[in-house]
Amino acid sequence: MSQRKPMATIIPLIDVRSLATPLAATRNSPAVGPPGLLSDTRGRVLRDLRISVTDRCNFRCIYCMPKDVFGSDYRFLPHGELLAFEEIARLVRVFKAHGIEKVRLTGGEPLLRRHIERLIAMLADIGGLDLTLTTNGALLAKKAHALKSAGLNRVTVSLDALDDDVFRAMNDVDFPVARVLEGIDAAEAAGMTSIKINMVVKRGVNESEILPMARRFKGSGHILRFIEYMDVGNTNGWRMDDVVPSSEVIRTIRGELPLAPIDPNYVGEVAERWRYADSDDATAGEIGVVSSVTRAFCRDCTRARLAIDGKLYTCLFATNGYDLRALLRGNASDDEIGDFLSAVWAQRADRYSEIRSANTRALPKIEMSYIGG
Ligand code: SAM
Repeated sequence: MSQRKPMATIIPLIDVRSLATPLAATRNSPAVGPPGLLSDTRGRVLRDLRISVTDRCNFRCIYCMPKDVFGSDYRFLPHGELLAFEEIARLVRVFKAHGIEKVRLTGGEPLLRRHIERLIAMLADIGGLDLTLTTNGALLAKKAHALKSAGLNRVTVSLDALDDDVFRAMNDVDFPVARVLEGIDAAEAAGMTSIKINMVVKRGVNESEILPMARRFKGSGHILRFIEYMDVGNTNGWRMDDVVPSSEVIRTIRGELPLAPIDPNYVGEVAERWRYADSDDATAGEIGVVSSVTRAFCRDCTRARLAIDGKLYTCLFATNGYDLRALLRGNASDDEIGDFLSAVWAQRADRYSEIRSANTRALPKIEMSYIGG
């Protein structure tokens, strides 16, 4: 295992002095208006919200929560620091009034958060939201039915290999592939649709699994997505050499399985979509590639992230968050929270992946488990 740098102090990249005290910011800001769509300095509208519901995970994926950092002595956030379900639901209502259409629950491992189905039911009750969840699948077989009954219609399951040895080495807790596959089957049996399978491809670790994964999910009706390995956080020792470009993934699959491109579902969709060209059957499933490194999509990024402790981030690679929990627990009204959100989004200028360089790579960043993958 490579040597890890100690966690660096987090420094803000943008001038947030006017937003340092949330309530003061909303009371002083002239830029805030009534609920409605929010647009940032690059004309990007706020549409999606990712919520990390726990920083804990039952896997120790070598590229995400390596054991030598997230070991038995690692101090996860105490429960009282996490947003309560009522607080999350209240924020989602405010976000929805400002244009959010899609909410993804993530983590850490979201199925480790106790009674997560209660949160799903609360969010489903809000109505009019495309609600989904990203999981490593370990607890999915057990929970799929309760999740579906609570109102979860879609799920994304992370699976980095079909070969059991490769998978166990990647999750680093000796977890077998078969149980994740059982989880996927359980989600389908529970009636979830548009199931997505996410595979992060790391050079020299699991690129040999690209074709087996494409073969396995062809005909399943599921959407298999290959994600370029990203320089999230400070603990995974990321190097550009570790990235397998999406173009190579597609070339590899096309060597055996003919693929044809498909149009995006909507402007700003992060995955480039492909279908199996030798199958007219719409239920054959599809393949997507997410080229976060080689073809950054900051230009169309409509996503905000709510970390476990209620800090709002406007980029996965942000170094500074905005404290919504302080507002919630400081008795701010929904209007004040909405105004704060408007002020944050109005000054958003992030485009980390487009300007990624030797310099940006050295910046301290937030860990994926905290901000939410
Ligand atoms: N525990 C859940 C799971 O495994 O899906 C949700 C959280 S996890 C952080 C969300 C996704 O982020 C997973 O698909 C994981 O593979 C991906 N991920 C983590 N670190 C990554 C990195 N450095 N580059 C690309 N994807 C990463």
